Amino acid sequence: MVNAYYLKGVIGEINWVYCKMIIKDVKIITNDGIIEADIKIEDNKITKVSKIIHEKGEDIIRGNGKLLLPGGIDNHVHIFKKYLKVPTSDTVRRSTIASAFGGTTTVIDFAFSDRSPKVEERIEQFKDSFVNYSFHIFASDITDNLINTLKSGFKSVKFMMIEYAGIKSSLSGLRRINDLLKKFNGYIMVHAEDEELIKSLSEGKKGDPKLHLLTRPEETELSAVLRARAIVDNGIIAHVSCGRTLDLIEGKLLGEVVLHHLLLSKKVYERSDSHLFVTSPPVRDPEELWKRINKIYMIATDHNWFDRAIKEEHKEFPDLVPGLPGVELRVPMIITEFMKRKLPLSLAVKLLSENPAKLNGLNKGKIAEGYDADLVIYNQEKKWKISVDNTHMADWTPYEGYEVIGKPETVIINGKIAIENEEIKDEFFTGKLVK
Ligand SMILES: [Zn+2]
Repeated sequence: MVNAYYLKGVIGEINWVYCKMIIKDVKIITNDGIIEADIKIEDNKITKVSKIIHEKGEDIIRGNGKLLLPGGIDNHVHIFKKYLKVPTSDTVRRSTIASAFGGTTTVIDFAFSDRSPKVEERIEQFKDSFVNYSFHIFASDITDNLINTLKSGFKSVKFMMIEYAGIKSSLSGLRRINDLLKKFNGYIMVHAEDEELIKSLSEGKKGDPKLHLLTRPEETELSAVLRARAIVDNGIIAHVSCGRTLDLIEGKLLGEVVLHHLLLSKKVYERSDSHLFVTSPPVRDPEELWKRINKIYMIATDHNWFDRAIKEEHKEFPDLVPGLPGVELRVPMIITEFMKRKLPLSLAVKLLSENPAKLNGLNKGKIAEGYDADLVIYNQEKKWKISVDNTHMADWTPYEGYEVIGKPETVIINGKIAIENEEIKDEFFTGKLVK
């Protein structure tokens, strides 16, 4: 039992919480290997990282040799997505609690620049988020509202190369947004799929969910990425689904890969419940991505919580519901894969926390003095199997039976214990807007 010491008060409008804590005897992953350390946290920040901290009268969490990870940052989630024809089944609270249980302490979702929900509405919807949150702004061209949103500190525009939520897409719009973002030092997140090619391949097709894969072959991603590459100066290709795309991106164009493309193969579309696994772009050949792990800039999830009944209602191509739940499993499954594949854990930490923080200008993603105290004590000795009963997302999981090495046990968000020994410590806990 940890006796965290909180001194709470109110000064005018500002609520403040002072909390001083020491985490003892944890293992930290660095570029030079794993080191043992103690960590001091004061006022939401990491203020000391040292082999041994000899200070008394502090609140002490004993790590007992467990790993300490920087809180995960998921750069791509769709939580409480109520603006498309088929709404997700979650609430902000439920998806963000799942996120915290999985060691992800910051999520970046989406708002629109010129239709509802705009960023103000999204901030209101996220006021009971359990973890920290921010938003990318969907836009297809420059508008006054987009300029104002960028002026208020949001840094990234999500550009869809296919029609989305009734908004049409054009390369000239992409070019104008690219030029605008240079002025704001922002970046473009591109959904790269070739609309024309997909439409022509889909014409007249109906029925088997596998058609989702067959009408979206790799070429539909590659041709869109080539056009994006010709225009975008500073950006990231969202949910890269195939190895050949990673071969195309370089320089200021980065690659985001999401959990399901690394963990699921196109064999799922042979299953009798293949409709559950529909996601855009579809899952393909994960080993082609793993072979190029060094070309990946970050790993996100594209989390979409659709319960089984919703997927059942829409199980015939083209009336399918793309999207898979994932926000809770990204950190433990990626750590597991890195351990099994004997890849350096320092790279896992980069892809899960450090790089998404850097790209979004957040003072997070590293265990070092001066960084925000978003931290996860990860018990690397614990082995468990994923099931719908021991996770907190949706009423089914794409990863049933997967054997995980390790589990996030205690999760610290903004210097406070949010989850302690796999249980919610404060049921009223909330994260905050970050940008
Ligand atoms: Zn997405």
